[in-house]
Amino acid sequence: MKITSIEIAGFTNKLTTTFKTALRTLDQVESVAVLIRTDTGQTGIGAASPTGVITGETTASIRGAIQHIGQQIRGRDPRKSEEFFQVLRSCLVGNNSAKAAVDMAVFDLLGKHYNEPVWRLLGGGHNRLTTDITISLNSPGEMVEESLIAVKKGFDVLKIKVGNDIDLDIERLGQIRSAVGKEIKIRVDANQGWRAKEAVRAIDRLQQSGVDLELVEQPVNRDDLEGLQYVTQNSKVPIIADESVFTPEDVIRLIRMKAVDGINIKLMKCGGIHNALKMAAIAETAGLSCMVGSMMESFVGVTAAVHFAAARSVITRYDLDAPLFLAENNVKGGISYQNATISLAEAPGLGIEEILDLDFETNS
Ligand code: MG
Repeated sequence: MKITSIEIAGFTNKLTTTFKTALRTLDQVESVAVLIRTDTGQTGIGAASPTGVITGETTASIRGAIQHIGQQIRGRDPRKSEEFFQVLRSCLVGNNSAKAAVDMAVFDLLGKHYNEPVWRLLGGGHNRLTTDITISLNSPGEMVEESLIAVKKGFDVLKIKVGNDIDLDIERLGQIRSAVGKEIKIRVDANQGWRAKEAVRAIDRLQQSGVDLELVEQPVNRDDLEGLQYVTQNSKVPIIADESVFTPEDVIRLIRMKAVDGINIKLMKCGGIHNALKMAAIAETAGLSCMVGSMMESFVGVTAAVHFAAARSVITRYDLDAPLFLAENNVKGGISYQNATISLAEAPGLGIEEILDLDFETNS
């Protein structure tokens, strides 16, 4: 089996409501889809969505990077996956979202070739998982209202976005906790919005006032690893890194510093399933817990993340709700949602049949 062409196409998904975090406000999601063709007639599909404020990548840079990668991988046999992923890693520094799109297209191809869904190819024993739901950063009243709607729909884990004003954040979390009651898990994502000492004080204050938190994600700036370490070592609530952990190398650095209790793995940060598997293996060996999340992405990218997430037992938390914010699903096959439950098809590869209304252009 040899790769004969790499084609790309752009598409946009509108969101049902504006998505707000401490870092950005978003009304639509752009994606770049990749279609890899082979001489056996099999095809693989992947996609990347840019999150400039986190990964530094844009729609144009992803297109350019995939074009460059395409020149390096054309003619190669994806079944020699060890060699293939070495080439993908070393042909270009960074550009991990672009690499993730190519990586997932190759896993799709491998699954189709071996006639197994990717989750089973990776050794997974189940094709169903339960996601949290994200509550955007708004006024306390709006966030309470959103939280109650989510709970009514059957979500029992809320991911609350905070980080722009720590006193108001304490207010937000207090109001949400009293509205939803004790049974609902609340995880907090500050998206780098707090400073280390104030984060520790805020977590203490919340605990003392009976506002239980399951975990706090990325309390401090991505580069402030000492601050992250300080919060982890001085808080009773587990601290999870997101923007501070992109790659396997980052996981090793955080473990050496004892800077976190867990990590949030995202394909758009790490370059795809191949690297995500390494990160999960390192975390498991070091006793860190793992969450799998996504950026605001299409059904394609999140389908690949679900295949990976369903295949590793060290992954116990799922933040894979992005498609629930899309106004419509333009992907046939792949994942399906029933409120908090995500199911994967039994079809080979990623199980994606088609991205509707896409015209792929030959790239390399
Ligand atoms: Mg996060």
